[in-house]
Amino acid sequence: MKVIRSMVLVSVDETSLARGAQDVFRAFLDEIEKFGLSDQIAVTTILDPGVHGDTPLVIVYPDSAVYAPVTVADVHTIVEEHLYKGNIVPSLLAMMHELVPEIGWMRGRRGALPVQKRIVLERVGVVNPESIEDYILYDGYQALAKALTHMKPAEVISQVEKSGLQGRGGAGFPTGRKWSFVANTPGFPKYVICNADESEPGTFKDRLVLEGDPFSIIEAMTIAGYAINAHEGYIYIRGEYPLAYKRIENAVHQAEAHGLLGDHLFGTDFSFHIHPHAGAGAYICGEETALIESLEGKRGMPRARPPYPTTYGLFGKPTVVNNVETLANIPPILRNGAVWYREIGSPKSTGTKVYTILGNVNFTGAIEVPMGITIREVIDIYGKGMKNGKKLKLVQSGGSSGSIAPASLQDVPMDFDSFRNAGVSLGSGALLVCNEDTCVVDLARVILRFFRNESCGKCTPCRIGTLQLYEIVSRIAEGQGTLADLDAMVRISEAMSEVSNCGLGQTAPTALLDILKYFRAEVETHIVDHVCPTGVCTALKHSLVSAPVE
Ligand code: SF4
Repeated sequence: MKVIRSMVLVSVDETSLARGAQDVFRAFLDEIEKFGLSDQIAVTTILDPGVHGDTPLVIVYPDSAVYAPVTVADVHTIVEEHLYKGNIVPSLLAMMHELVPEIGWMRGRRGALPVQKRIVLERVGVVNPESIEDYILYDGYQALAKALTHMKPAEVISQVEKSGLQGRGGAGFPTGRKWSFVANTPGFPKYVICNADESEPGTFKDRLVLEGDPFSIIEAMTIAGYAINAHEGYIYIRGEYPLAYKRIENAVHQAEAHGLLGDHLFGTDFSFHIHPHAGAGAYICGEETALIESLEGKRGMPRARPPYPTTYGLFGKPTVVNNVETLANIPPILRNGAVWYREIGSPKSTGTKVYTILGNVNFTGAIEVPMGITIREVIDIYGKGMKNGKKLKLVQSGGSSGSIAPASLQDVPMDFDSFRNAGVSLGSGALLVCNEDTCVVDLARVILRFFRNESCGKCTPCRIGTLQLYEIVSRIAEGQGTLADLDAMVRISEAMSEVSNCGLGQTAPTALLDILKYFRAEVETHIVDHVCPTGVCTALKHSLVSAPVE
């Protein structure tokens, strides 16, 4: 008789699979058989661990030990030491092993770390993202049922407005207000668009939701459709997210098959249809009007605004465009009420924020925390401190278009207002943590090269400005810059910010301007002394002091 005493879960999300999770899974089966443990140890998969940056990830129950990243070469040791002899293998343990209760999938419950609070990611890693039954089991479709059967569209909008929810795509515009603009704009049909073209470097929060909890987005879009009187919605998914596309497509089909998407939902007169759409790899299509152009079958180039999509959107009709993370907040708000939501976060920036932590910390990955946590807390608690004990130099928040916050700002609460007052933008939620070895000139060069490549070329300030800035910074990195270049860069940057047609050109110089504000002396050292203090710019000397002669 089989008496299973232990269970091994191998992560099989897209990243894990790309890194050999399938081979790891097979290796566990083989090794367990070799040790004669097949009757005692079960091996299964976890579709999306949802918490860890290092994959494949392996969880061993009942010890709640998380090993990551695991390679085929590690499997023999884990089986022999942990499963056969009963000793956890410290050298292979992941940093975040204490997060296991958070996963809760095996235990049928959901826990929380003292600071981490899950609303957007509440089901990620908890439910099977390919099963609508699982979604329904975990409160799925309660919000839509409540909206359609107990609330008028205006009441839905009012709840969202009262919750204080602000768009999580970067701009932070109040979601309820956007919905009411569209609801009150004459014109029909109206549309709901989910902007899932997550292309900001370092940002992958939306992918976690799309892959780990796709039904929540379908439900949220349907609620938005009811609120603004739209009957069709589009999800524009980044082309490089094939698993997300597959899961959203599956979610749409399952919702349709269960009568939760389509005609006469919950026996009412309300009908709603959703069309998934894959992008083709252009960063600029994350800009809402370029996305709309692309959806219409045209080249993805931003429109001049106004008019805004709320009055002239898809096919010239009033359109709500919401980011994935924004939408994922909607069902919990309707289920639990606006008052519940307002109690989370800070008074003027309610709710939680999903951050992706990158760079020189001990742990990289995604977290969801209440608005108002500080950079210091993120680094210490979730990043597990700076890697190799190095000093924090700066954090870039919000991807390549985001601000640079020097270490002196690490205690400013991360919410829309506090960050804005400190001259920092919250952006998309990517937090690139850089230590003292980071060269700010090199950082600026990398960022500007990205924008030079991604500018769509429609307007001159951005098309020429991104190129000029990149060329100047490159000259400085190669020891050919002049002090006059600094003024020229500020002039070009300010012109771009003021007159570029869209957010790309307006924010492309943000990091550079911040670098010139906080680290000007380091840039000047590159120009005047031909020295790169961190030694990153290889064309320059590393120090003013010559190495001692042996
Ligand atoms: Fe295109 Fe840049 Fe102009 Fe935006 S600002 S429309 S990306 S050229």
